[in-house]
Amino acid sequence: MTNNRTYDVIIIGGGMAVLSLALCLAKEGKSVACIDRDDPQVQATAKFDGRTIAVSAGSAEVLKKAGIWEGIKEKACPIRQINITDGGSPTLLEFLSEDIGDESFGHIIENRIVRTALFAAAAKQKNLDHIAPQSVTDFKISDETVTVTLADGKTLCAQLLVGADGRGSWVREQAYIRTRGWEYNQHALICTVQHENPHNNIALEDFRPSGPFAVLPMTDDENGNHRSSIVWTEHTSKRRSAARISEEDFHKKLNDYFPDFYGSVKKISPLQTYPLGLIHAEKYISQRLVLISDAAHGIHPIAGQGLNLGLRDILKLTELLKDAEDCGAPALLEEYQRARRIDNMAMIFATDSLNKLFSNDLLPVRMARRFGLKAVGKLPFAKKFFMKQAMGLRG
Ligand SMILES: Cc1cc2nc3c(=O)[nH]c(=O)nc-3n(C[C@H](O)[C@H](O)[C@H](O)COP(=O)(O)OP(=O)(O)OC[C@H]3O[C@@H](n4cnc5c(N)ncnc54)[C@H](O)[C@@H]3O)c2cc1C
Repeated sequence: MTNNRTYDVIIIGGGMAVLSLALCLAKEGKSVACIDRDDPQVQATAKFDGRTIAVSAGSAEVLKKAGIWEGIKEKACPIRQINITDGGSPTLLEFLSEDIGDESFGHIIENRIVRTALFAAAAKQKNLDHIAPQSVTDFKISDETVTVTLADGKTLCAQLLVGADGRGSWVREQAYIRTRGWEYNQHALICTVQHENPHNNIALEDFRPSGPFAVLPMTDDENGNHRSSIVWTEHTSKRRSAARISEEDFHKKLNDYFPDFYGSVKKISPLQTYPLGLIHAEKYISQRLVLISDAAHGIHPIAGQGLNLGLRDILKLTELLKDAEDCGAPALLEEYQRARRIDNMAMIFATDSLNKLFSNDLLPVRMARRFGLKAVGKLPFAKKFFMKQAMGLRG
């Protein structure tokens, strides 16, 4: 890294969305600096992030553009069937990828595998400086340029600053961009489990009163053990949270929640807890500044679409910036905002409504949703619509 370097774009943040954007832009010939306060070595461990991600077909396109998809595809488990149940009921709705002539609805892959591949690709990519761990102490924006000061005293300049520093975005705060949102008073418990029988590439979403209990199929481990990852949502106020009960009770509950065809189930990774909330920036742009991914919109994970939305921001931004003479031109940023707000707001509305509808144990609501799920199953066009949404494709 040289002192006082000038780039086309500087990105603050270093998560999966950020590095995908940095790689996409660098491959289009733009010079990019990506500054992350966290250490990549630490971020690539399961202890830092033990989650898996549901990569939709649309998002796989971004990871292909970033040049990492072919290398990690083998470690990604295709989802060929999605079963929807309600509070442990028999399957109320079943989606089969073959019904829409596709091999899968998307793939489940461990976050740390995606991160490791992105770090390796970034290290090899020309015109991309991945500067981490490093903190930014200040940035200044003028009509022509953005100047970023790092904690080590160096300064970097660019035409555009991208804030991709997650839900609690410092960039957003410094740019005085306000947010709207609320807490769901729910948290998600995440862990990897091993089960006796194969999962048959089935993803399960069981809508329980405290929130959805999702089982996502993973590739077998190197010893051929069958694995899935779970996202277990609970109300925060729940006194006997699964996070606090004994290992023995936890396993009993886990085995109760899993359908019988999995055989016996056991936890094989530490349990991690994520508080859930909704956050949406009032605007995504300011002079020579743009917000993407969770810095712009953080949603409920009920449909596993958070990163997928961020990757759709990236597709749009790359398309707009790739031939731009001035990456910070106001018209270009306006177009990004116009295009992305509509899509993001639709997903915010959908995930928020789904959570309200499916985390509710009132009898009339429960009956209406069971009826609704069965009805969707009988309407081929509605079923097809939901399947395309799950794949990250339109309508
Ligand atoms: C339980 C759970 C399950 C989920 N499952 C799915 C799923 O199946 N599919 C899906 O698409 N999405 C899913 N999501 C959402 C997804 O995890 C997020 O949308 C995604 O991680 C956001 O990526 P990001 O790069 O925008 O932000 P982050 O991953 O939060 O990264 C932000 C980065 O910015 C850096 N940073 C922060 N502040 C600064 C600063 N001041 N200076 C420099 N760097 C800074 C951090 O170090 C970090 O590297 C899930 C979320 C949760 C909570």
